[in-house]
Amino acid sequence: MRLGIDLGGTKTEILALDGAREVLRRRIATARNYDGTIAAIRALVAESGVEAPVGVGIPGTEAADGTIKNANSTWLNGRPLRADLEAALGRKVRLANDANCFTLSEATDGAAAGTRVVFGVIAGTGVGGGVVVDGKVLGGAHGVGGEWGHIPLPAMRVDELADSRPCYCGKQNCLEQWCCGPSLSAELERRTGRTLSMEQIATSNEAEEQALMARWTDRLARGLATVVNIIDPDVIVLGGGLSNIMRLYDELPPLVEKYGFTLGGPPKIVKNRHGDSSGVRGAAWLWPE
Ligand SMILES: [Zn+2]
Repeated sequence: MRLGIDLGGTKTEILALDGAREVLRRRIATARNYDGTIAAIRALVAESGVEAPVGVGIPGTEAADGTIKNANSTWLNGRPLRADLEAALGRKVRLANDANCFTLSEATDGAAAGTRVVFGVIAGTGVGGGVVVDGKVLGGAHGVGGEWGHIPLPAMRVDELADSRPCYCGKQNCLEQWCCGPSLSAELERRTGRTLSMEQIATSNEAEEQALMARWTDRLARGLATVVNIIDPDVIVLGGGLSNIMRLYDELPPLVEKYGFTLGGPPKIVKNRHGDSSGVRGAAWLWPE
């Protein structure tokens, strides 16, 4: 048995897996303070009755000193979450950020099952990424492995340079600022005055929407080509709102091939299998043994 917990900004979910089979799942509102978060997880684990180590997906990164950094659930930042959970639960705990959990779930028994090197992208209101190699998250030396959303947009065009975008992380022109859903909507509104969602723009027949969608897809492809050149993934799995734009699965691969140093033809880019469940499933798979 294995236990996974997805600690989201608004909900906290627990899942118990027996092999790959779900035997228990429960979702509660997230306690938006630190002590409440620890108490809620302790209660969920106790109620499960399952004696197993616990994996927890978090909206941030566990730094080398054991404290949490860059969590948008800000009450976690600077806190030694893993040590405090281990003390509260009386068992071993592993943490990973939510994009890494998504990628691990899809690599283990999802859309990328049976492959070795997997890159996962979650794009919607934000943009995140994760790398899994041989069934293990590649977190790197400081836990920032796969942080695709905060590398700068490659090969910026003249019109993009004139539209330089600051990021909340303190840098300029992060991919998140060019490839998240709200950035697409904001660019359309600036150009046309029309307010549409990412999904509406993707399926619109208006010329301006079509042109904007083509530019946006090209930016995604430039960002993905950078990843392809570094880790050459067997599969790229898309998650979040972006993964529901079906045209991307046809349009992205040839563009990534064009921009990347690709030898084996266009990369394989697929839709996730587990959807919103990938976070909690990946948390459980943090304990493969
Ligand atoms: Zn950034």
